[in-house]
Amino acid sequence: MSIKVYNTMTRGKEELVPREDGKISMYVCGPTVYNYIHIGNARTFINFDMIQGYLRFAGFDVTYVQNVTDVDDKIIGKANEEGVSTDVVAEKYRVAFEEDMAALGIEPPDIAPRATECIPDMLEVIEALVEKGYAYESDGDVYFEVKRFDDYGKLSRRNLEEQRMTVQCEVDAARKRDPFDFALWKASKPGEPSWESPWGPGRPGWHIECSTMSIKYLGTGFDIHGGGQDLIFPHHENEIAQSEAFADGARFVRYWLHSGMLNIDREKMSKSLGNIRSLREVLAEHDADTVRMLMLGTHYRSPLSFGDGSLAEVHASLARIRNCRFNLEDHIRKAAGEKAGLHHSDRQTVLVHFLNEAEVEFRGHMDDDFNSAAALGVIFGVVREVNSYLDEAGDIKTPAGKLVLLEAQRVLDGLCGALGLFRGAAESAGSVERVPMGGPAATEGPSREQLIELLLRVRETAREGGNFEFADRIRDGLAELGVRVEDVQDGFRWRLER
Ligand SMILES: [Zn+2]
Repeated sequence: MSIKVYNTMTRGKEELVPREDGKISMYVCGPTVYNYIHIGNARTFINFDMIQGYLRFAGFDVTYVQNVTDVDDKIIGKANEEGVSTDVVAEKYRVAFEEDMAALGIEPPDIAPRATECIPDMLEVIEALVEKGYAYESDGDVYFEVKRFDDYGKLSRRNLEEQRMTVQCEVDAARKRDPFDFALWKASKPGEPSWESPWGPGRPGWHIECSTMSIKYLGTGFDIHGGGQDLIFPHHENEIAQSEAFADGARFVRYWLHSGMLNIDREKMSKSLGNIRSLREVLAEHDADTVRMLMLGTHYRSPLSFGDGSLAEVHASLARIRNCRFNLEDHIRKAAGEKAGLHHSDRQTVLVHFLNEAEVEFRGHMDDDFNSAAALGVIFGVVREVNSYLDEAGDIKTPAGKLVLLEAQRVLDGLCGALGLFRGAAESAGSVERVPMGGPAATEGPSREQLIELLLRVRETAREGGNFEFADRIRDGLAELGVRVEDVQDGFRWRLER
């Protein structure tokens, strides 16, 4: 079994082969903290949260780095507008960003470096680029000289010479040797944030921030670099040029993943159309799981049209999953532990088989470049099947029946969890306390041996019905508890290992 990802660099799906076996190193361009994020930004962060979450679910040891750009022209602009310092602006919107992510139930990255904490590292990279002849100083600025990097344009597949013929480049550019050269370091104007450098006081350019922070925390040649599709050019193209020039041509990133754009009611979100919607506005009206599910209902690379109509529909679908989970909880709580009924009914066997197949199908979709839309379809299939089982079954009275309910709960919760659904605070309001599988320790009642025997007979029934995955799960669960099971010719043997 392997995971395939669409690599923007090669424009095709490739098997995900990490730099280090079993580990994934992943960097996603974080927010520039000068404003509340809009719903399009939120889509990117939800998508990459889904991706990192699924990679963990699939068993990888993931290191997820997402930077905070806290020094930038836009922050300086906002500070001037509001008449406060850039620090005040950056801190205000950095905190707001963290609050927004928490409200969405997004897991915090493992490492969230701030650009202003990594200035000495950036200076090191810029100095090396100057030394190696890829960058030049001009009047207190330092520029990367694009034409010195032969592979420039390999990600965005832009031919600069063609562009030069057709596009009028705005040239701020008495200082630049070529209009396509971009700033690694900018001399500060009075009143702007500045740091000392060999070229005088100044601040880093945006592109060098990401190159430096990703290499600092993940090393060159890390696995996944992500961001919105709008960052492919020039941001990611420039990151590649700087980073690979710095590393003497060594590959910067193994797989480039890009999240699709979000439109509002089929129109591009833009200041001029006045249709920019902040995440906060949207979350004031809709709960986080509804927003997440709307996003995951479209493949992460495809464009998505966002509108209140579609949110209402998603809300109704989400309620179907919620109700099914609550019904399951309820049945499990009420399921009696009577001694009779050690065998699955045929209907139970069918359900367990269905659940196992659903898990396999879900993984198949997610392994295929994180097809969350198809994976959601599998979850709805499980909901339909479990609902019809609960309708038919009425009260569940047998231990085998209770185990089946617990299995249904495990699968449904597991699949929702793999997509990051029902993580947020909104969930706790309606949830019912979970009944632990072992139940409270009873002073009277069945002995440990009796319970082990019971489980093993359920396992036998599962094996007879061909449900080997379910049977193996019981065996493995027992093994974790120190009960070793051996299959012998006409049954099983077990012993306690500790
Ligand atoms: Zn970036």
